[in-house]
Amino acid sequence: MINTNEILTKHNIRLTKSLGQNFLTDANIIRKIADAGMLSKDDLVIEVGPGIGALTVSLAQKAGKVIAIEIDKNLIPILQDTAGQFKNVTIINDDILKVDILSLISGWQGQIKVISNLPYYITTPVVMMFLESNLPIELMVLMVQKEVALRMAAKPKTKEYGALSVGVQAVGEPKVLFNVSRNCFIPKPDVDSTVLRIILTQHYKKQIIDYNIFHKCVKAAFSQRRKTLVNSMSSTLQMDKQLIKDVLVNLKLKEQTRGEELSVEQFISLSNLISEYF
Ligand code: SAM
Repeated sequence: MINTNEILTKHNIRLTKSLGQNFLTDANIIRKIADAGMLSKDDLVIEVGPGIGALTVSLAQKAGKVIAIEIDKNLIPILQDTAGQFKNVTIINDDILKVDILSLISGWQGQIKVISNLPYYITTPVVMMFLESNLPIELMVLMVQKEVALRMAAKPKTKEYGALSVGVQAVGEPKVLFNVSRNCFIPKPDVDSTVLRIILTQHYKKQIIDYNIFHKCVKAAFSQRRKTLVNSMSSTLQMDKQLIKDVLVNLKLKEQTRGEELSVEQFISLSNLISEYF
């Protein structure tokens, strides 16, 4: 287990707040995150933002291979020092949103998992990029801001339920695992964190006729939470109100229904019917 405090002091590292650099210092939390990945030597792990490698080392001990993608070139020499000594770790200096992941994982015969203490400023784009990528990913274990984890796993008719919940649950099954105090990081972030696991089922995704329209409908449905679906969707998507009313009747839903009342399945049925009109 590497000592984050010691390494930061030894290398005199200046942390970059804008890159979401809050490094884990708690060995127990690092072990729990790696355990949550249910890893074996058949697994290839993609780690987003390894930082100075605290989690990377734990992952390397359990997985068959770890591909650690870090944007900050100043951290790469330290990462080589801490995690580079493991033969099954590949360190890539790149932006996770730009790197060609498919070519990095090509040839791997086992399962592929994403495990990361995510930089908070790009949580949603990174999560949605993986979920919608069609990459053969089995599961994701992510540490994110507590509120974001609750939104991803939220059920209909709760205040946390929104476009992110539907987007995530259309492709996977999220489960909140445990909270992590802000005291477990250097520097201490302003928010508490939560670790969640998303098993990618693709179950619902296969039922979606047009993913683009599904997204537009979900976004429009939650764009004005207080409005009914008929009003929010007609104004956001410039659709005829009567058409949306007809779709609701078809789905046996009341005209006054709001977006937050619809289950993921109902959103899929709604968008599939609307797809026919676009
Ligand atoms: N894994 C380390 C840990 O748990 O201590 C560091 C986690 S820290 C919250 C997030 C890391 O992601 C930082 O090292 C940061 O430089 C890196 N990062 C930020 N944006 C990134 C991006 N677009 N692509 C890859 N890494 C990024």
